[in-house]
This record gives sequence, C-alpha cells and structure tokens, in this order.
Amino acid sequence: MKIIYKKLVVLTEKVEDLEIKESTKPDKNPFEMAKMQFDIVAEKMGLDENISKYLKRIERSLIVSIPIIMDNGDLEVFEGYRVHHSTVRGPGKGGLRYSEGVFLDEVKALAMWMTWKNSLLNLPLGGAKGGVCVDPSKLSKKELERLTRRFTAEIINVIGPDIDIPAPDINTNPQIMAWIMDVYSMQKGKSVPGVVTGKPIEIGGSVGRETATGRGLYFILQAICEKLDLDLKSLKIVIQGFGNVGGNIAKILYEEGVKVIAVSDISGGLFDEQGLNIKELLEWRDKNGLLKDFYERDYFFVSNKDLLEIKCDVLIPASIENQITESNAYNLDCKVILEGANGPTTPEADEILERREIIVVPDILANAGGVCVSYFEYVQDLQSYFWKLDRINQELRNIMIEAFEEVYKISNEKKVTLRIAAYMIAISRLKKAIELRGIFP
Ligand code: NAD
Repeated sequence: MKIIYKKLVVLTEKVEDLEIKESTKPDKNPFEMAKMQFDIVAEKMGLDENISKYLKRIERSLIVSIPIIMDNGDLEVFEGYRVHHSTVRGPGKGGLRYSEGVFLDEVKALAMWMTWKNSLLNLPLGGAKGGVCVDPSKLSKKELERLTRRFTAEIINVIGPDIDIPAPDINTNPQIMAWIMDVYSMQKGKSVPGVVTGKPIEIGGSVGRETATGRGLYFILQAICEKLDLDLKSLKIVIQGFGNVGGNIAKILYEEGVKVIAVSDISGGLFDEQGLNIKELLEWRDKNGLLKDFYERDYFFVSNKDLLEIKCDVLIPASIENQITESNAYNLDCKVILEGANGPTTPEADEILERREIIVVPDILANAGGVCVSYFEYVQDLQSYFWKLDRINQELRNIMIEAFEEVYKISNEKKVTLRIAAYMIAISRLKKAIELRGIFP
C-alpha cells in the first residue's frame, strides 16, 4: 500500500519570524553518507572486494593553515582543504567552497561525488574538491583576496592543469578563480589559464560556464519530462538555493514560461502559488542580498524546511547537502526531485522516496553541466582556441543527454533507481581503469 503523508505548509507572513537559523553543518556526516551510497551500489553490482576497498579510500587530503593580516592589523588563521579522491581516470577536478561550515569529511564526500560524476559523463578527469572554513561575507574584498592568494600558495603543489583543476562552488566566483590563476602563474613564470576553470572570459574563461549547471539541469528536466510524459510548460517548480545553480535554473525556467512558485536562500524563502517574478528577484538579489528582506510584492515568506514540503511537480534542491532526510522524505509533495546541489538526499531518504514513487534525478547526473563546461574551458585553454556559445550549449546538451539516456536505460533494465543506475555506470568505468592501470608498484 502506498502511504502518502500530507502536511500543511506553515507560511509566515511576518519577516520577523524568520531568522537565519539554518545550520551550515549537516547532521549526517557527508563522507559516511557518500560511502553508504557506494556500498549500496557495490553490493547490487557484486563489485570485486578489492576494487571496492580501493574506491572507498581518498587518494590524498591536504589540510592547510591560512594566516591573514586583517584590515585592522590583527592576524587571523583560517583552515583550508584540498582533497583528491581519485585520479585514476585523469587529473582531479572539482570546486572550491568557502563556508564557515566546511570540514574535511564534507570535502572528502564532495571529492568522491566528483569522481562518480566525471566518470558518468565519461570525462577524462578524476574527482577532487576543496574548501576554506570562512564566512566570506565577513571579509573585505582585500581580505578575501589575501585569503585566496595564501590558500593557493599553500596548495600549489597539488594543483595544476595535469594534477587538479579547481572551479567555483558555494561562495566562490570567477574573481576568486582569477586570483588563484594569477598566484599559480606567477610561481610558474608564465600564464597558466588551465589551472582553474570558471575564470572570467577575459583571461581564458569560457562563455556559458557561469550558467552551465543551470543549463544542464534544464536539459535533464526536459529529458525526464519526456520520459514521464509531463508537460514541462505546465509544471510548478520549487527551488531551494538561489545562488549560481538555483538562480540560473530559476532564470531559465522563468524565461521559458515555466512557473517557479517558491525559491529560497540561506535566510529563508518566498512563495506564490501563481509563480514568482524571477527576473525581478534576481535583480533584487544582485543589488540587495538576502531574500528575507524582499517586501516589494505580496509573496509569502516560508522557512527552508517548509519550502521543501510545498506541493509542486518538481523540487530542485540547489543549496547544500543533507536537506532531504528520513525526517522530511514522507512529507515531500512532488513528483520529481532534480538534484541541483551535491548530496542533498540521504540514503535513508532515497529509500523512502523510492517507496513513494518519487523520481530522484541524482546530483551526479542532474548538476553535471557545470563540470562539463569546465572541461570545455580546460580544453579551450590547452588549445588556446575558444568556442562560441552555440557550440558550448550544443556539446553540453549532447553529453548530458547521452549520459541521461544511458542512466535511464540501465535503470529500466536492472529495475533500480536512477541514482543506483548512474553509480553503476560510473563505478564500472572506474573499475575498468583500475584494472587496466594495475596497482603500483
Ligand atoms: P552559491 O554560493 O552560488 O549559492 C548557494 C545558495 O544556497 C545561496 O542562495 C545560499 O544562500 C543558499 N544556502 C546556503 N546554505 C544554505 C542552507 N543551509 N539552507 C538553505 N540555503 C542555503 O553556490 P552554488 O554554486 O549555487 O552551489 C549550490 C550547490 O550546487 C552546492 O551543493 C554545490 O556543490 C552544487 N553545485 C554547484 C555547481 C556550480 O557550477 N556552481 C555545479 C554542480 C553542483
């Protein structure tokens, strides 16, 4: 029997009720969660014990201290990480996150998810990730620059076009990538644009990179709608997270005439059953900041917790890990979850959602547009030959749809969820690479 739990979403009309109280540190250890996801798939695949042992370990974790002289003359020391989960299929590739809640096990999980993602897309790249434990909104621009430059100097031996190529993630952006590229280039005595992706276009960045994760999500949404016979234009969509990923997918949907009925950032969310004016909200965000201060229209304020439970067709978590757990999976009221964030759903929640027949399009497929165009940027930098936007979007679509079709086919053939199918494809490719290379010495 299918049990559907309905819950009335509590809407708060007074902004005073909203505080920025969402914890930045997830309840569940993300690395334990990532290993649990792996174990579930390894068992289903009957994966060789040795391969399993190999892939569950992190190749290299670097922890660094980052001392900075603040504008007031005081010294502050921040902690930073760069983790390579696997370089079996190519140089490490993955974002760099600035957040007060960043910790080593989170970065390890994110690096592991990058390995699966790059393998699923069949990119010649491994999996890596980095983070600095800092709230960048508390730093001046000069302090942020000093922090980024010193962090780059501390990790310089483990990054490089042939080693590991960082990119933007939460609270990092093209300017931060430019500073990383500059420090690396100064040390090498030549300009090395291929050391990072997500750079400004003027110094070797790629057109279409900033919007790529959102664009990729849209391609995957179109594809899943086709399979499920859903009319994209009449969908109601809820998005958690209104930064690069959440903001860009919201913008594309709004421009395509699809109703986005709720969005949120770390301060909480806005909801209107008739659809939000995303263009206006994005302009407002860029000028003013947090959504909790938006009063221009008669929208309802809603907490991040309640936002996830709003009745909609497609829910797009696009903030941080661990948002859909066993404690709210019964309350979700959507048909499809399209994972914009990395690791938003716990394995326990996955099980509940499967029983409830809610389709989850996994992060390693859904949000892979970002790393895909990062790969295009890297290739363009190495060749010193830059593509036009039409080519970027066409090649992005080709790669994303090819991966989607493969995942969908395996999911049907093996009667497993899309996440398990995606992992099976990714892990099989890694297994092959490990067997071909052998174990050194
Ligand atoms: P961002 O910093 O641009 O935006 C993050 C958004 O999430 C902001 O609106 C922020 O206010 C909100 N947020 C942060 N903490 C929150 C919390 N505790 N509860 C609710 N909202 C919160 O970051 P981004 O680049 O958009 O990344 C978002 C997610 O997407 C991350 O999981 C990231 O790893 C993943 N991702 C990013 C890319 C990319 O290209 N940027 C690619 C693939 C996956």
